[in-house]
Amino acid sequence: MEDSYILKIANLNVDYVTRGSVVHAVSDVSLSIPAGKLTAIVGESGCGKSTLTTALLHYGMGQRRGAILYQDKDILKLKGEELRKFRWSEISMVFQASQSALNPVMRVGEQFIETYREHDRKVSKKAIVEKASQLLEYVRLDPKRVLQSYPHELSGGMKQRVMIALSLLLDPKVVILDEPTTALDVITQDAIFDILLKINREFNTTMILVTHDFGIVAKVADYVAVMYAGQVVEYNDVRRVFKRPQHPYTKGLIESTPSLLSNNEEISEIDGTPPDLRNKPQGCVFHPRCPIARPICSREIPAARIEGDGMVACHAYGHPLYAQESNIEKVGG
Ligand code: SF4
Repeated sequence: MEDSYILKIANLNVDYVTRGSVVHAVSDVSLSIPAGKLTAIVGESGCGKSTLTTALLHYGMGQRRGAILYQDKDILKLKGEELRKFRWSEISMVFQASQSALNPVMRVGEQFIETYREHDRKVSKKAIVEKASQLLEYVRLDPKRVLQSYPHELSGGMKQRVMIALSLLLDPKVVILDEPTTALDVITQDAIFDILLKINREFNTTMILVTHDFGIVAKVADYVAVMYAGQVVEYNDVRRVFKRPQHPYTKGLIESTPSLLSNNEEISEIDGTPPDLRNKPQGCVFHPRCPIARPICSREIPAARIEGDGMVACHAYGHPLYAQESNIEKVGG
């Protein structure tokens, strides 16, 4: 792969210890994120994608092992003031349901000033308002109106665009977007993704998009990591994944996304449900649901194999079912 990497995740594990049990939310994930590109992390609810991305900011609960290298610093070793300065100025995040992340009793303008001043108290209020105005214009909002407004005076789509502008305030090199268009209508979703792609291309900002929707991945991503039961089972250039998915779970996800199929009659579902993360199956975690499972699958964890510029973890790598190109094309982009 020609792209240079901005983040390298190595053997990351995140466990949540609850009364009497341990939830293995992220298990032995190794993944490199290319600089300046949009990488999607996709999988069903509870697959560990949000746990993985919050670990990139060293946020949240859970016991973490492994390393997350950003410009040769291990994020998991940052503490105190160094960690506080790192967040938002190097990597920022637009959280799931971020519309409610705005403080309801503060005008939007005050929230921009407060966010900036948490990192740099010397910058004048006038300079912060100028920068906030530029960013709000960039996300197609009227700064004069929005900076004076309270969150309840804005629509859901406007609040989400405010959050995107806020995430860019400190010029981060990486922005994580956790399901950024959940609960918005399709037209507003498209407008928001147009803005995000513009930011990605024009500012060269690396973006990591967390989503359960392969249709969105098809529209906007450059690379995709597919997660199942806390593990990355396939990673590659998004066109390659759509053209020739190598993991049975990836293939199942794509085939269950109606808008991606040339023939809607071919829509199918993946049988079964994801496993309990406190008690994962032995061997390949997908084997109870896999249509081509073989005896070795319930005994041995499949090793990650190189697939083009990416990887796939499956004992049946190269199976004839996956050797042919699919008729599913990446849409958009
Ligand atoms: Fe299916 Fe076996 Fe591959 Fe797992 S390792 S996805 S069970 S074929």
